[in-house]
Amino acid sequence: MIRSITQKKSEEAIDLLLNGLNRIFIIGCGTCTTLTRTGGEPEVRALKEILSQKGKIITGTTVVPVACDNLTRDFLREFGAQIDQANCLLITSCAFGVQTIARQLRKMVVPALDTLFIGKETGFGMFDEICTQCGTCIIGETGGICPVTNCHKGLVNGPCGGTNHGKCEIDVAKDCVWTLIYNRLKELERLDAMRKYQKPRNHQGEPKPGKFKLPAA
Ligand code: SF4
Ligand code: SF4
Repeated sequence: MIRSITQKKSEEAIDLLLNGLNRIFIIGCGTCTTLTRTGGEPEVRALKEILSQKGKIITGTTVVPVACDNLTRDFLREFGAQIDQANCLLITSCAFGVQTIARQLRKMVVPALDTLFIGKETGFGMFDEICTQCGTCIIGETGGICPVTNCHKGLVNGPCGGTNHGKCEIDVAKDCVWTLIYNRLKELERLDAMRKYQKPRNHQGEPKPGKFKLPAA
């Protein structure tokens, strides 16, 4: 399963963001941040407790089913009065959810989490980043293993000089991704793919935000 992976901002960071904002409505998300225990029911309750002790007025709380969904607007309607009383919304969803709610309601939004990456669940409570969405996918030549995401240096033309007996010099507990790619291509009898030179990555600023339009049918 694919999830938005988030981590809680520190109490100090949230205090700074809430400076001067004393009436707060807290919104959690029932999907990714509930699963990662960064923004579901218990985390919303804990935030309410902490902020109340600091003298903030919590006008209400809720956990929406899927913060990044357009239906969030409808879900939040029943909390209209409590939201109106607040001068900001403190949101424990990923940044996509925060932006969705910001578009839907005329209120200041304050993210309580930092969004790290889109991750694949690899075990109970464990997630690995699988793709940094670099825009130039080369895994057709690397046996389906992504060096952009899995190499600490993002190298796309073989290993750095620090690779050591198949391990990564930055994190010795981790396999060097280029060893994994080599082994995979060898197994597939496609080591020739490693000879292909990958052009330098484009690190120049791209026009933002990224846009995509379906071609005409
Ligand atoms: S090369 Fe890696 S980071 Fe880039 S699109 Fe492909 S899988 Fe994603
Ligand atoms: S050892 Fe391998 S994975 Fe680690 S930084 Fe060098 S090339 Fe990348």
